[in-house]
Amino acid sequence: MKRVLITGGAGFLGSHLCDRFIKEGYHVIAMDNLITGDLKNIEHLFKLEHFEFYHHDVSKFIHVPGELDYILHFASPASPIDYLKIPIQTLKVGSLGIHNCLGLARVKNARVLIASTSEVYGDPNVHPQPEEYWGNVNPVGPRGVYDEAKRFQEAMTMAYHTYHGLETRIIRIFNTYGPRMRLNDGRVLPAFIGQALRGEDLTMFGDGSQTRSFCYVDDLVEGIYRLLLSDYAQPVNIGNPDEITIKEFGEEIIKLTGTSQKLISLPLPTDDPKQRKPDITKARSILGWEPKVSRAEGLKITYDYFKSLSKDDLFRMAHHKEF
Ligand code: UDP
Repeated sequence: MKRVLITGGAGFLGSHLCDRFIKEGYHVIAMDNLITGDLKNIEHLFKLEHFEFYHHDVSKFIHVPGELDYILHFASPASPIDYLKIPIQTLKVGSLGIHNCLGLARVKNARVLIASTSEVYGDPNVHPQPEEYWGNVNPVGPRGVYDEAKRFQEAMTMAYHTYHGLETRIIRIFNTYGPRMRLNDGRVLPAFIGQALRGEDLTMFGDGSQTRSFCYVDDLVEGIYRLLLSDYAQPVNIGNPDEITIKEFGEEIIKLTGTSQKLISLPLPTDDPKQRKPDITKARSILGWEPKVSRAEGLKITYDYFKSLSKDDLFRMAHHKEF
């Protein structure tokens, strides 16, 4: 039985990966310090013989007994609100955290896949963004702590690949959504749906002309799975190229939720990228991957998830730890 370590295993993406690898018959070890992760996302796995959870901060030395075939490094705060609140931890998990993972991988002779991000392209001057684009990142702006940590993480991973011959994979994740997103993480989808559920106006930043391209989580997980098992060590974009303005997105959420509230405009955050859309030519040709779930389908599943939460859960998620 193959053994996989998933850092950030109690988070939004990490928990979906735990589910997928359990389903594929792996022994899954999830690790999380629970700063932004939530045990609720993985509690259904606790009873399984082939699931283990380590409450640990990957920025500190990692010890995992036994063999490991794969390490997936998904531990990181990942929303602008989170990394504004915990900038140093964000930098540490992307730098010290990946160093620990790569060191562990060498000892275990494991393959490492790291979660990188479209943020390595910053506020892009090239559209859509291919992997060859080097980006337009402000290192000292509020997003710099995340963007530069992820860029460093890619550099460190490539160095272990070329210098130590370690097997490595790099995925650049574009905006992804689905069940288990944190209601208060500040991202546009949980923000809009939470506001609609609470009967508040939807807070659009700026005039809403900035674009994003939203990928449903199951599609992303399929892309990650294929990349891990491929033999391609260069970065690969995974995302849904179906681009939409934030204003149109808000209108879709209003329609979906049937809220009588409206979109209101708040100031645009510093360095908010004006446009973002993945060029997925590589994912298509190397992995035979493309997204399958339309935004209409994915948004409905996600809305049903948020609606199904108990009042307790809604309260807990809305008031999740103040860092
Ligand atoms: N956004 C918004 N209202 C919100 C939260 C976000 O209009 O309440 C905008 C934000 O300015 C950005 C886009 O939605 O242009 C996506 O933001 P998110 O934080 O989800 O992810 P990003 O792609 O910026 O990392």
